Amino acid sequence: MHCNRLRLDVAGRLFLGLFLLSVSVQAQDSSSPLTNLKRLLEGNERFVTGKLKPRDYLAERVQLAEAQHPYAIIVTCADSRLSPEILFDESLGKLFVVRTAGHVVDPVVLGSIEYAAEHLHVNLVFFLGHENCGAVKAAIAGGEFSPNISALTTRIRPAVDKALNRVSGDKELLNAAIAENVQYQMSLALFQSDPLKHLVGEQKVVIAGGVYQLRSGRVQMIEPSNSHSTSEGNESAASENLSKKQLADSKETEAKVAGTRARKSEQAKISFAEEVRHAFEEKLNLELQKPMLMRNNDDRCFFDDCRSIPAGEKVKVVSPQILKIMGRHQLRVSYKGQRIYVLADPEAFRMGS
Ligand SMILES: [Zn+2]
Repeated sequence: MHCNRLRLDVAGRLFLGLFLLSVSVQAQDSSSPLTNLKRLLEGNERFVTGKLKPRDYLAERVQLAEAQHPYAIIVTCADSRLSPEILFDESLGKLFVVRTAGHVVDPVVLGSIEYAAEHLHVNLVFFLGHENCGAVKAAIAGGEFSPNISALTTRIRPAVDKALNRVSGDKELLNAAIAENVQYQMSLALFQSDPLKHLVGEQKVVIAGGVYQLRSGRVQMIEPSNSHSTSEGNESAASENLSKKQLADSKETEAKVAGTRARKSEQAKISFAEEVRHAFEEKLNLELQKPMLMRNNDDRCFFDDCRSIPAGEKVKVVSPQILKIMGRHQLRVSYKGQRIYVLADPEAFRMGS
């Protein structure tokens, strides 16, 4: 659990740190993550204003034939309207681009990111969502999809649920879910990739995110939902603020967990899938309160161990890949130091239930 918590803390620190630092710090060298982020955003500004750099692709492609040295990994949606090289006004060999609908993260995507970070030494990972994203719309709408499209929407749905907690209108929900999905995929990347987590922990890699505005062409940086910007002009002040904020955040999280448990006891009908999602977002704690989760017969348990857990006991959802676990209708939990597989009610996993 400590490991999982550490991962989430690293993610939180990074998101916040990036914003605190990006407003105030002059990067130390020409290839620092923040310099590279600045370069990306300057390219986007040229795109927005139509002042594009001239390119000589014929010469550049010959120069690049032997090796590539990209300076940023862009993880973005497959949508045809947001080609990263165009909207960041970059050329061949500069951006290592990984695209899936809804920029969802899975092992293949993570393998691509890890390759670029570890072997090409790219120190900036930028998650780029966009307005009016069809994949996010599909995750909001729910319904019947092919298994492969479901694999996408299932990975976006937790972000939609988070957005649902704070907005109501359709347009508001879509925009909120798009922003949440950027943050969610950033979190998943850290959570599910040990190499990335280590590189970020050692401050060798920075992960940032933004949302592309279709009409203006502008990439709007994503601000962490509970962070604040600082006008402090130096890195140490920013770091100090960061520590204070982290402390406040952890207390706030504890309060949220307590609040969620209270709500859960009131809402007896909360779906199991919802409960697992909350558990995933809130330190992976789960209370075994649902009869559907625990039943004293063989078809609910993979191993004898799980039958010995009484309903109402607290267990911890074991990493990794909770979504995969959910997709397989299993829950891997930790109870009294043991790792146990619990088979859950498949009906509970229907999206939108
Ligand atoms: Zn999209």
